[in-house]
Amino acid sequence: MYDWLAHRVRSTPDREALVNASSGNAWTYATLDETVEEMGSRLSALGVTEGDHVAAALETGVEAVCLIHATMRLGAVLVPLAPEFTPPELADRVDRADVDTVVCDGTTESQVRAAAERLERSVSAVTIGDSDRDDVTPLSAAEPDTLTPTAWEREDTQLLLFTSGTTGDPKAVRLTMGNLLASAIASAFRLGVDPEDRWLVPLSLHHMGGIAPVLRSALYGTTVIVRESFDPGGTVDDVREYEATCVSLVPTMLRRMLSARGTLPDCLRFALVGGAPTPAELVERCRDYSVPICPTYGMTETASQIATARHSEAYEHPETVGSPLLWTEATVVDDDGAPVEAGESGELVVRGPTVTPGYYEDPAATGEAFGPHGLHTGDVGYRDEDGRLYVLNRLDDRILTGGENVDPGEVVDALRAHGSVDDAAVVGIDDEEWGEQVAALLVPSDEGVDVAALESHLRERLAGFKLPRTIGTIEELPRTVSGTVERDAVREHIREGDTVTLERS
Ligand code: ATP
Ligand code: MG
Repeated sequence: MYDWLAHRVRSTPDREALVNASSGNAWTYATLDETVEEMGSRLSALGVTEGDHVAAALETGVEAVCLIHATMRLGAVLVPLAPEFTPPELADRVDRADVDTVVCDGTTESQVRAAAERLERSVSAVTIGDSDRDDVTPLSAAEPDTLTPTAWEREDTQLLLFTSGTTGDPKAVRLTMGNLLASAIASAFRLGVDPEDRWLVPLSLHHMGGIAPVLRSALYGTTVIVRESFDPGGTVDDVREYEATCVSLVPTMLRRMLSARGTLPDCLRFALVGGAPTPAELVERCRDYSVPICPTYGMTETASQIATARHSEAYEHPETVGSPLLWTEATVVDDDGAPVEAGESGELVVRGPTVTPGYYEDPAATGEAFGPHGLHTGDVGYRDEDGRLYVLNRLDDRILTGGENVDPGEVVDALRAHGSVDDAAVVGIDDEEWGEQVAALLVPSDEGVDVAALESHLRERLAGFKLPRTIGTIEELPRTVSGTVERDAVREHIREGDTVTLERS
């Protein structure tokens, strides 16, 4: 198999492939193919060859899209990096992923140079923009010539993608051509493909949620609309203006888009929402406004989706992430690794063709992650009688207080169900008497929090030991780019900010 764009351009050269929402410029498959061919051949002239590790330190935009296709054409392994990374963060990723060449742009060039200086070996830096430094080569300096596209085998590593780092150091996940292909096909079976589909991609292109639609679209022959930065109202307007039929979001983005414009335009066939828990109340709001939300559960290690609910299913069961995609097997296991019955919660373990063969050059982490039923996700959840999955929280987030296990997700749900709370995070903080105590950080609604009213609301819903004893407030919860709550930042805010205390009884 050659790169997906090369296969696609032969059958639909005149179909629209890419639109830049910031400028309105558009590319057909033929013109995108020419642009990618030129980028690829210039990189090749600069020495990039099959098997090289090529990092992308680029702002989200057309160049980042082209580089995704160009590396596939060259047979190179793409290592997407966040443009916001500091030099030490960049140096760490470049080092751990054995990057040979970093592609940067005007915004990231100086960070990339500073990162390269920290490394013990040399990496070449190529910029998409202009550069007058002699240690950064402008792509335009290379003479383009013709490329021989590389043929891929299923087991070849195509992407080295870092996880979000919610639970510790980000891990470099190996994703093969086979993983990406299986993910694209299985996703199509769940969500359907309409040749007229237009995917708006406001998610960063260094995250699986952003890369997946860009790659899949070339396989499906549909249109990608890239947005250079996220702004809630503008993204809703783009859906309407560019007649997007599909969009991928993290829950906080959707929430902010709904607050900005009330609802989403009805040209949308679906809004895929995942990367972090989607609160039931957000799904219910979508149902009330006929927004076709498809809650999805996925991770970097599974090339995105594990399970996805169609919107009709989500409307009926607002808490589910749907059943696993075609070929993916999800098993719920207890602390000893033994499968449990439907309805019982435990760790979610997944197996199937989208699952990574392992972490890059890290046999210890890989060995630890895999068991007899597959990849241990580190997430706690359960399956209902009909095979739908529900994700509760992460294994690491369970709070152990006075010998009792508290599921933070349940406490968050109870808090959010109160009108004075817009959003909430629940963590365990050290406690001399109880080992850990339940603490909450709230985003109050406009009316503000009435602590007494909130307390009696919580006491009606939660056993005494689950009640948050320390409560702080904040304007917006600290989150990673993928939308997950940064629990250490929450703890720190609770420690440093003003809090109120409820009695444990
Ligand atoms: P790290 O692995 O470095 O700690 P991370 O797990 O946040 O970071 P990602 O691969 O980006 O990195 O995120 C996958 C995780 O996101 C899942 O394991 C799960 O915890 C969470 N997640 C994704 N979708 C959902 C969802 N619909 N509901 C609840 N959690 C979700
Ligand atoms: Mg993870």
